[in-house]
Amino acid sequence: MSLRTEGASNKALERPAGIRSPPPLTAGVMPPMIEAVLFDLDETLTDRGASLAKYAALFHREFAGLIGPMNLREIEATFVALDERGYRPREEVYAGIADQLPWASAPNTGAIREHWRTWFPSSAVARVGSHETLVALAAADIRLGVVTNGSVLGQSAKIAHLGIGQYFSTVVISEAAGCEKPDPRIFRYALEEIGCLAAATLFVGDHPVNDVIGSAEAGLVSVWFEGIHAWPSPHPVPERRIRALPEVLEFISPPRRDAA
Ligand SMILES: [Mg+2]
Repeated sequence: MSLRTEGASNKALERPAGIRSPPPLTAGVMPPMIEAVLFDLDETLTDRGASLAKYAALFHREFAGLIGPMNLREIEATFVALDERGYRPREEVYAGIADQLPWASAPNTGAIREHWRTWFPSSAVARVGSHETLVALAAADIRLGVVTNGSVLGQSAKIAHLGIGQYFSTVVISEAAGCEKPDPRIFRYALEEIGCLAAATLFVGDHPVNDVIGSAEAGLVSVWFEGIHAWPSPHPVPERRIRALPEVLEFISPPRRDAA
């Protein structure tokens, strides 16, 4: 499994070299006050399966005249297998689409690349509960941001399409930052941008290494969005984990009320 999404490079599902022992992910003591929440984008704020289904339908309409006997369901299944949840090098995905669909008249890989880059971001489907969660956090005066691996064009377009950009004080994209999760520098950069201490900042993401272990090693309070990836042994399964985005609110202290 590689660590990047949407056009990023491959690395093994291992802790990065040079980092010795991670801080415990099972710490039972909650920090005194959370002031900011940083989110991963793909599979955390988006539902990649639903996004791929939407894109496959668009692709099917666009190229139906060129594709032989393959229905939409089969095209969608081919895309899901090729995509590997966004962790396969994009050029392999484009080449796979060119090779594996029963084209009567195949477009070249460049045309498929161009179509994906143009239309996949605008096929992004929000994770259930994402809007309500962001609204509730913003109402609680929590500063919000995104830290995502990928290209500036693609990831920015997804955020714009989802209509959630107004909630974020900062959006850190690896291509622009010059480093990518799980490198602690990208988390520290996001903290500087959002103006919060690591210990007062939650990081919410689905990827065990990129999001959870990476953010914990940078000192943030990590929360695992489970259900997408298996948790890798021998790391202890995090105590702070959620299965639905609104559960993030459980980690936020209720707003202080002035005494009457
Ligand atoms: Mg993700």
